[in-house]
Amino acid sequence: MKKITIAVDGYSSCGKSTMAKDLAREIGYVYIDTGAMYRSVTLYALQNGLITSEGINTALLKEKMADIKITFALDQATGRPLAHLNGVCVEQEIRGMEVASYVSPIATLDFVREAMVQQQRLMGKEKGVILDGRDIGTVVFPDAELKIFVTASAEIRAKRRYDELTAKGMACDINDILKNVQERDRIDTTREISPLRQAEDAIVLDNSHMTIAEQKEWLMEQFKRVTNEN
Ligand code: C5P
Repeated sequence: MKKITIAVDGYSSCGKSTMAKDLAREIGYVYIDTGAMYRSVTLYALQNGLITSEGINTALLKEKMADIKITFALDQATGRPLAHLNGVCVEQEIRGMEVASYVSPIATLDFVREAMVQQQRLMGKEKGVILDGRDIGTVVFPDAELKIFVTASAEIRAKRRYDELTAKGMACDINDILKNVQERDRIDTTREISPLRQAEDAIVLDNSHMTIAEQKEWLMEQFKRVTNEN
């Protein structure tokens, strides 16, 4: 069967990555979590003192971009991809609130976006990939055969992120998470470069009241429909 490119875009904490990961595993596609890439750049900036109370040291971060290598390696136990920053697994650190509170400003920087988009296009050039993010169907792969735009209410998304973090034993406050989700939505939709928006040819999925199993089934149906057409 001809391989296609699948773009899953949408708001923060919509469950995009869960559905994308599951589908990738089922159909034998490569899953690329582009949010993890922006999160890894943010972690690098935090670890190297490039984010202080004064703000982001953009000049130095720009110089250091060539030193930031982001890769994914499969977790042997779960078969799921784990983000690595310069060879070190950072999957746990990039999901915490500190990274979450700086990632959207970092993701507005033109040189960060250029570097990430270039890497994403390289990773997906052979097709047979499913990427999730904010600008996949509009900028990274505008020719993707299947584009999904996922949305859900901010309150539901905050509750999902809260459950995810507490299940991992990470301390958090639901109100802080809700504020963070709303602030990231604001920055992601209003930024100048590649703002989050629905591609004209994307199919909308509002999963506010859907279970993970229902979403999985819905996505599989879309995949079958498009691969039958192509
Ligand atoms: O998807 P996730 O919540 O992990 O993404 C973290 C942040 O990275 C988003 O809030 C957004 O600011 C940024 N991002 C982006 N473009 C992408 C993926 C993520 O700007 N393709």
